[in-house]
Amino acid sequence: MPQVTTQEAERIAASFGLTVRAQPLGSQQDSNFLLVEPAGSVAGVLKVANPAFTAAEIEAQDAAAERAAAAGLRAGTVRHGPVSVPVDGGPVDGSPAGGSRALARVLRYLPGGTLAGAGRYLSPRVVAGLGTVAGQLSQALSTFEHPGLDRVLQWDLRHSLRVVTALAGHVRDEGLRAQVTAAAEAAWSRVEPLAGQLPWQTVHGDVTDDNVVCRVAHGLRTPDGIIDFGDLTSSWAVGELAVAITSVLRHAGAEPCSVLPAVRAFHALRLLSADEAAVLWPLVVMRAAVLVVSGEQQAAIDDGNDYVTGALEHERRLFERATSVPAEVMTGLILSELGLGGGPSRVPSGVVLDLGRTAVLDLSAQSDAVDEGAWLEPGLEDRLARALLEQGYDAVATRFGEARLTASVVLAGVSPATVATGIDLWLAKPLSPAEFPDRLTVRGDGDRVHVSVRAEGAPEVPPLVRPEYAAGWLSVVADPSPLLGLPAAAKSADRDLLERREASFAAVQEHYYRDPPRIERGWRHHLAATDGRVYLDMVNNVTVLGHAHPRVEAAVARQLRRLNTNSRFNYASVVEFSERLAGLLPDPLDTVFLVNSGSEAVDLALRLALVATGHQDVVAVREAYHGWTYASDAVSTSTADNPNALSTRPPWVHVVDAPNSYRGRYRGSEAVRYAGDAVRAIGELAAAGRPPAAFLAEPYYGNAGGMPLPGGYLAAVYAEVRRHGGLAIADEIQVGYGRLGHWFWGFEQQGVVPDVVTVAKAMGNGYPLGAVVTSRAIAARYREAGYFFSSTGGSPVSSVAGLTVLDVIRDEGLQANAARVGGYLKGRLETLAVRHSLIGAVHGSGLYLGVEFVRDRERLEPATEETAAICDRMLELGVIIQPTSDRMCVLKIKPPLCLDVAGADLFADALDRVLTEGF
Ligand code: PMP
Repeated sequence: MPQVTTQEAERIAASFGLTVRAQPLGSQQDSNFLLVEPAGSVAGVLKVANPAFTAAEIEAQDAAAERAAAAGLRAGTVRHGPVSVPVDGGPVDGSPAGGSRALARVLRYLPGGTLAGAGRYLSPRVVAGLGTVAGQLSQALSTFEHPGLDRVLQWDLRHSLRVVTALAGHVRDEGLRAQVTAAAEAAWSRVEPLAGQLPWQTVHGDVTDDNVVCRVAHGLRTPDGIIDFGDLTSSWAVGELAVAITSVLRHAGAEPCSVLPAVRAFHALRLLSADEAAVLWPLVVMRAAVLVVSGEQQAAIDDGNDYVTGALEHERRLFERATSVPAEVMTGLILSELGLGGGPSRVPSGVVLDLGRTAVLDLSAQSDAVDEGAWLEPGLEDRLARALLEQGYDAVATRFGEARLTASVVLAGVSPATVATGIDLWLAKPLSPAEFPDRLTVRGDGDRVHVSVRAEGAPEVPPLVRPEYAAGWLSVVADPSPLLGLPAAAKSADRDLLERREASFAAVQEHYYRDPPRIERGWRHHLAATDGRVYLDMVNNVTVLGHAHPRVEAAVARQLRRLNTNSRFNYASVVEFSERLAGLLPDPLDTVFLVNSGSEAVDLALRLALVATGHQDVVAVREAYHGWTYASDAVSTSTADNPNALSTRPPWVHVVDAPNSYRGRYRGSEAVRYAGDAVRAIGELAAAGRPPAAFLAEPYYGNAGGMPLPGGYLAAVYAEVRRHGGLAIADEIQVGYGRLGHWFWGFEQQGVVPDVVTVAKAMGNGYPLGAVVTSRAIAARYREAGYFFSSTGGSPVSSVAGLTVLDVIRDEGLQANAARVGGYLKGRLETLAVRHSLIGAVHGSGLYLGVEFVRDRERLEPATEETAAICDRMLELGVIIQPTSDRMCVLKIKPPLCLDVAGADLFADALDRVLTEGF
């Protein structure tokens, strides 16, 4: 590296007419300086090239940067120079005596930073961005030729085996040395036969996290540029991608499958041939091996340099990750991802082992055999199989390629190995392994064995593999079913499902996540996907009791068998349920209307108010959601649900400020003033001859992220609306029914009693149920001008579902659990807020909590995009959580009320990790 002082750098810059301060930047080959103008803006990057570079090489690099820029990438193109300057103490007058000379030029500075930082997580979106940059660059350089490209570089993957062999001796750890050499040789044996077919072109050669620059918007990075063309050469085109994806592996949480978004993105721009796809992973292994041996060589030269020793650790980790999955499996996975092949190898048909009468055991998420959490019981597979043998079957077989829920675990941050690469067999008359035909690889002994069919030369294949890698593993095995006289495994239709959904749904009917898991089972606070991954469910407030509660299922099934009709018939359950519901509410709330949903309940509540008061207007608060029917939608003001909500409310709806004490007009202790404003608004309406029929609000602000209303808010507003003959409606659909822990109803927190209460969601634990509860007097007035009948509202089945839910909430102490576990979780989240400045506040009570993310705790700028990215990363870590509020910057934490401390810990730990490593 040329030795250039800061003063010299500033002098060189001055020769380009730049008055700047030079700040040294780290580099391995050149001397680089950031040139800062007096006003603080950056004039460019001064690069004093390593004298080892020829003028032709530098010219080639600069011309390549121009190509990249012309192709739309941000690139470090030349602004001044190059000129020859003296370095290493050489004379300034240009005479050849003493010192040496180097080429200096000023390159365009690209703000935004790079992807560097091994401790940082790279999201699939960012990894895809890296692949896009590599692809764009590959396209831009595909026709680029220059005499300066004719060079031999240590980093050129064509020479990688030679480099590893030559430098392996520097690896001090013998075990690692042997591993690196063996892995490189094995990988090279996959590259070599195809080497002649691999297309060549000019490559940047170092499209890594260190050299890819990003645009930063809303706290999220998007790769869009490239620096440092110092390794520019002519080599295999696919090497550009191999180098890029290898750099992903050193990042926090990365594993081999993390690179796939980059591979897909590259392929979308610059189609990979099947040969290129086949050598891609072996080249990743080669690159990782080269990095390890080169790092060790550097460390040998520069012993004691902490930077070099630190880098060694990263390179070792990267190598471990690159070799953590066999290269042929990764190749199968990549081919299958790109639609270039992969998939299970074919087996010639023909039965080689007649099992006799065989039962096939379904162990998937959709199997009836795993109901009621049975999948969590150890030994379930054996018990099920033995029961079938006892019924007289000769054999019991599991399914090839099936994702087994029985192999899954709950509260796992990483997907467990669930996908079967063979078949498990239980035989009534056990065979010894030697009695099985040679075609089958047999594991185990006795009455349960695992049989598989491996492709020739395939690596050792575990009986179960993780779903992310299943396509890769399945490409090195074959389905043994036909050899055993069983039907071949069916192909998964999971991918088609989303397309079919989109074809029959309207665009307005959204789904969670861009690429959602297919969820087909729930149990307590867990949701199971068809790939066997089980997620912690932090959003399903409807299933208060937990998913698939056996008591609800049994009660509903029994009632369905017995009677289901409408509430004009005389039967007990509707009466009992109405009594129970009214009994949970204070006087005078004693009259119950049963409907099927929250929207219906709100709609009916509004109609009751209009009819009972004879008034025409309604006051609602901002940032609220109350339903989709005409009237409930009219009072829904949330712009997150409907961007035009505020400008399209009908004239009878009047909106007052959201009484948000965290952000908004009044904050903290000032928040009591919201009540005064709302009271004034109601008074003004009345004065204008339009006294409202009702004031409608959530009594605890659920839609804003679980915030209590300011003290005395409802007391003041209810009093004012009543003073003008209107009614107070509390929408308890989200926050009521015990979720808040300390109160069964949200209005209790405010110390008020509404005139009308709407309930839904939790009432049926997922069975559609809603209710309006009001006083006898108000209901009586509705009789005079309204009508009510619901075909299924309050049906025997609905009523039984509702009664059972109330029984279980009581018997399982769920409200108390919400207080206990919710309190614990809130404490943990508040502790996280001390360390992570993105957390602006933790709102809520019981198991209705909100973590609000802000970019700045003073200005409270909502971290909307960050919140969406955090939710995506949480899904990767096994947690289902979604944003809420008009700014979509609050994690709405409203899990089933059976959540336990272990679940709360998993959530808090995952969030801590995401906020530490990035998203
Ligand atoms: N009110 C509130 C406060 C709600 O949160 C919702 C549903 N998100 C509704 C009403 C409407 O309920 P449903 O979806 O059952 O119609």
